[in-house]
Amino acid sequence: MNDIADIRKIRESAERIRVRGLVQGVGFRPAVWRLAHRYGLRGWVANDGEGVDIHVCGPAAALHQFVDALEQDAPPLARIDRVEREPAALLAQGEDFRIVESFATSVHTGVVPDAATCPDCVAEIFNPLARRYRYPFTNCTHCGPRLSIIEAIPYDRAATTMRAFALCAACSAEYSNPDDRRFHAQPVACHACGPRAWLERADGAPIALDTLTTLDAVDAACTLLQRGHIVAIKGLGGFQLACDAGNETAVARLRQRKRRERKPFALMARDLGVVRRYCVVAANEEALLQSPAAPIVIMKANGSERVTASVAPGVQTLGFMLPNTPLHHLLLRRMNCPIVLTSGNLSDEPQCITNPDARTRLSGIAEYFLLHDRDIARRVDDSV
Ligand SMILES: [Zn+2]
Ligand SMILES: [Zn+2]
Repeated sequence: MNDIADIRKIRESAERIRVRGLVQGVGFRPAVWRLAHRYGLRGWVANDGEGVDIHVCGPAAALHQFVDALEQDAPPLARIDRVEREPAALLAQGEDFRIVESFATSVHTGVVPDAATCPDCVAEIFNPLARRYRYPFTNCTHCGPRLSIIEAIPYDRAATTMRAFALCAACSAEYSNPDDRRFHAQPVACHACGPRAWLERADGAPIALDTLTTLDAVDAACTLLQRGHIVAIKGLGGFQLACDAGNETAVARLRQRKRRERKPFALMARDLGVVRRYCVVAANEEALLQSPAAPIVIMKANGSERVTASVAPGVQTLGFMLPNTPLHHLLLRRMNCPIVLTSGNLSDEPQCITNPDARTRLSGIAEYFLLHDRDIARRVDDSV
C-alpha cells in the first residue's frame, strides 16, 4: 500500500448509526442525505422497523460534525429518543451517499401523527399561478397525512394508501430533488396524479355544481354551509359533520339528528382573526392553535360576537381549532364566521372512515357529502 492510501486510511472512519424515536415520515432520510453531502461523507440511510439506520464513512472530523448536526438539524416534526453509534466497516472510495430501500424488519418504531398544513403549502394552494392552486391534498415533508394513511412500517409510499396514485413526472421530479421540500415526501401529489375531491347529495340526486360555485367541489361545499346545509366531510382521520355555527336552525338540526343533546360542539375558523372575534386568545393558546397537531383549544368567550346558542349551551367557553388540511383551508376561505365541526357518526357509534359507510350511516344526518378517493388507513379520532 502506498503512503497516500495509508494516510487516507488513518484519517477515515466509519460508523453504523441507529436513530430511534419518531423519525419516519418526517423527512429524516432526506435530512441525513443533505448532511452527508454537506460533510462529504459516503454510505447510506434506510428506514427499518426500529427507526432510521445509517452507515456513514469519511474523514473522522467530518463524521463527528455529521453526528452533532444530526441531532441539532433534525426535521421539525422529528422526535429523537436515542442515537446509538458503533464503529463499522470502511466503505470503498468513490461511493456516494444514498437513500436506500427500507428494510422490512420487526416493528419497534413509532409513526408520527398527521401534521397540519405548513405555511409554504398554504401559500401554494392560494397562489393562482402555483401548480397546486386549490389542490386539497397538497403536502410536503413538513406537513400532511402520516398516521392516517400508513398501513405498514417501514414508512414508504408503497405502505400507505397513496400507493394507488402513481406519481406524475412533475411530482416525481420534486420527490427525487434533494433541494425540494418534497424530496422523499411519501404522500406527494397534485391535481394531475393525486386524489381528488367531489360532492354528492345524500339523496343521490345529481348536483348542478355551477349553481354553487365557479371554482370546484370544495368551494361548492362552502356555499352549501353558508346556505344552512349540513355537510359530511371526509377529513384526515375520519368523517366530520359541518354546518354554519351562526345558523341556529342548522346547528339545532345537527344536534337532533346526531342525537347529541348538550355536549358543546367544536368549531373551526378560517384564521386567528376570526377566533379573536369570539374568544380571548392567550399567547400559549395561539401557539397551540397553530401547532402541527392543530388541536381543539378551549378558550373563554369574549362576549363581543357570539355563535348561535345551540353550539355550546350553558357554557362560557368555546372550543376552536384552525384548518388542519388544505381541504379545510379551501373550504373555509370564504367563511367569515366559524363552522361547527363534529365527528361523523351518531353519538356512541364509531366515526365513519370509508365512503360507503358514510353514505349509509350519515345520510340521515348530512344533506351533502364532500368525499375524496384517498383511503383512510386508520381512524385518527380528533375528538370533535
Ligand atoms: Zn407543507
Ligand atoms: Zn403529480
